[in-house]
Amino acid sequence: MTVGMAGYVNVRAYAELNGFVEAESRGRTVRRPFQTHQTVKDVLEAMGIPHTEVDLILVNGDPEDFTYRPNVGDRIAAYPVFEALDIGSTARLRPVPLRDPCFVVDVNLGRLARLLRTLGFDVWWSNNADDRTLADISLGQQRILLTRDRGLLKRRSITHGLFVHSDQVEEQALEVIRRLDLRQRLAPFTRCVRCNGRLAAVTKDEVIEHLEPLTRRYYNEFSRCAQCGRIYWPGSHHARLVSIVERLRDQL
Ligand SMILES: [Zn+2]
Repeated sequence: MTVGMAGYVNVRAYAELNGFVEAESRGRTVRRPFQTHQTVKDVLEAMGIPHTEVDLILVNGDPEDFTYRPNVGDRIAAYPVFEALDIGSTARLRPVPLRDPCFVVDVNLGRLARLLRTLGFDVWWSNNADDRTLADISLGQQRILLTRDRGLLKRRSITHGLFVHSDQVEEQALEVIRRLDLRQRLAPFTRCVRCNGRLAAVTKDEVIEHLEPLTRRYYNEFSRCAQCGRIYWPGSHHARLVSIVERLRDQL
């Protein structure tokens, strides 16, 4: 194959991908040159869009992967990981979003933070973080900021954030899971609700000295937080959480 200028394609970046392109290319279709050896990944990255930010590419309306070699006049649409699209999971560039979804949750959404941890998501939360801290954590740790504060989401340093509409915790969790298409990512009861650490199964012998007499008597399955050491077992509180998780799953 000869290497050289092949022609032009028409490219449009959607939603937050516009944050990567030059101002005059935002929110509109732009004509972009490509060379014969280049893939659609090269074309997008030449515009300033890191491929890690892209979750779906449509070429003339059909999903393609990063190795697709453009033809003259192709219409290329690039969508970010966070664009909720009703396209079915098969069309996505990867079966799951590119990044592991992890979150930083605003101070006043503590119940949502705990519920997301219960569902297995990696959640940073503190009851006294200021806006600056939330923004720094979001950017520095690539965490999606969940907040009900529109002003906070307008901060320049926040590139990944979701406005939570509902004021009801289960609805809030559903919003996040639906918006980011995280149904397949639920891993209930794998993470410490208190500190976000990972839970690991432990034998009764390993934890027996820390158990109250009734717990010691009636329960045989335990897990322990690798970070803070908190011990979990399927007690009555757990049963309530199981029913919440089932209720959420039914609505997804
Ligand atoms: Zn813990």
